[in-house]
Amino acid sequence: MNKTSITFLGAARTVTGSKTLVQHGGVRLLVDCGLFQGLKDLRLLNWSALPVHPKDIDAAVLTHAHIDHSGYIPLLVKNGFSGTVHATQGTCDLCEILLPDSGFLHERDADFANRYKFSKHTPALPLYTQEDAKKSLEQFRPWQMHTYENILPNIKIGFRPAGHILGAASALVEIGEEKNYKKKILFSGDIGRFDDPVMVNPYPGGRVDVLVVESTYGGRSHNGTSAEDIMAETISTTSGRGGSIIIPSFAVGRAQLLMYFLMKLKDEKIIPDIPVFLDSPMAIDASELFRRNSELHHLSADEAKRVCAVAKYVHSAEESKALNTNSMPKIIISASGMATGGRILHHLKHYIDDERNTIMFAGYQAEGTRGAKILAGAKSVKIHGRNIVVRAQILNLDMLSAHGDEDGIIRWLKTFDNPPKITFINHGEEDASTALGERIKNDLGWKCHIPKYLEKIVV
Ligand SMILES: [Zn+2]
Repeated sequence: MNKTSITFLGAARTVTGSKTLVQHGGVRLLVDCGLFQGLKDLRLLNWSALPVHPKDIDAAVLTHAHIDHSGYIPLLVKNGFSGTVHATQGTCDLCEILLPDSGFLHERDADFANRYKFSKHTPALPLYTQEDAKKSLEQFRPWQMHTYENILPNIKIGFRPAGHILGAASALVEIGEEKNYKKKILFSGDIGRFDDPVMVNPYPGGRVDVLVVESTYGGRSHNGTSAEDIMAETISTTSGRGGSIIIPSFAVGRAQLLMYFLMKLKDEKIIPDIPVFLDSPMAIDASELFRRNSELHHLSADEAKRVCAVAKYVHSAEESKALNTNSMPKIIISASGMATGGRILHHLKHYIDDERNTIMFAGYQAEGTRGAKILAGAKSVKIHGRNIVVRAQILNLDMLSAHGDEDGIIRWLKTFDNPPKITFINHGEEDASTALGERIKNDLGWKCHIPKYLEKIVV
């Protein structure tokens, strides 16, 4: 039998840039195709050539639509990849929203750099454009969960629900001669939380030979604290002192979960009935997808409709700016979730220097992002070239994360029928991956390895 190798082209000892190359008998399959985000050194990696030419990759598989897993697809296609992108229906639907938006942001950044001469390159070029992203969508093939099919010689794939966000899956890659699949490699993707109010539980692991598991929350626990209780307390006290609550939120998944909690808190009259605005075109699109497809989560169609009705959708940039012209207490949910760009920036500029207000982050803030700096207690924050003093109350609803914590991952690993021959730990900062590795060795006795960037391993 031919040798099989796995090469880690991203998300190795860091949380972004997920890209793993599986090679077997001259066939190359790329599992996830994400952008690096956060620290500048990481972002620069988006510009360096892959060690394999995109035209030599035969197919791509996406576990889910988050940009750190899908955002490199338009560039891969632009640089010559002509194969199929395999992903669940939900992931395909979300990529239709997220990838063109990502292209739009790259174009806008390049414009901005050109206008203010930020870049060493003249003219500064976008990594890819909105048009590139739209074109790449033509290569997507939607899959149903739990279907398994040959996509390349001796390579069969299939998807299983992972919770996390709409359409998120673990991807199973089976390798071997026809009708005799000998090696099962499971890519966890991002593992969601068990018993989430909205998303389904991660599907049991079954029997696999090689596992690649994420470790975003390795060494950490979401604790028993309930997001709902903290939201209730924070919203009541903030609005009580005449302030507003500004929530930088990931547009997909998190925004809908926040709206779910707000609906419950309002229904039960635990928080005052102050207006809620969903101010992100992408979060609005994602919410509509969520409302229309009740098979993607476990709320009823009626509940999903009520969740979306809790917020007023803010479509245009003018409406968005108008939100800041009155000082009535309000809740604004806007993107991006780590305050790295998007409409949230002008809300932060307006609200962060007033101690009556609260900035409520809604999950993981990657190193180097504006969100991480504010959470770390920065006295001032630079937005659109201006330094603004931080006076608002700052908190993070860390427990709202769409990722399972360490206990959650271990709970998922206990659903496997057998210890994999080897477990690779990726998608985590180095200390998180190390902590999860120790826990796996101690609790389960499994053999683990934390791959380095570009490390290639025969499995
Ligand atoms: Zn994700």
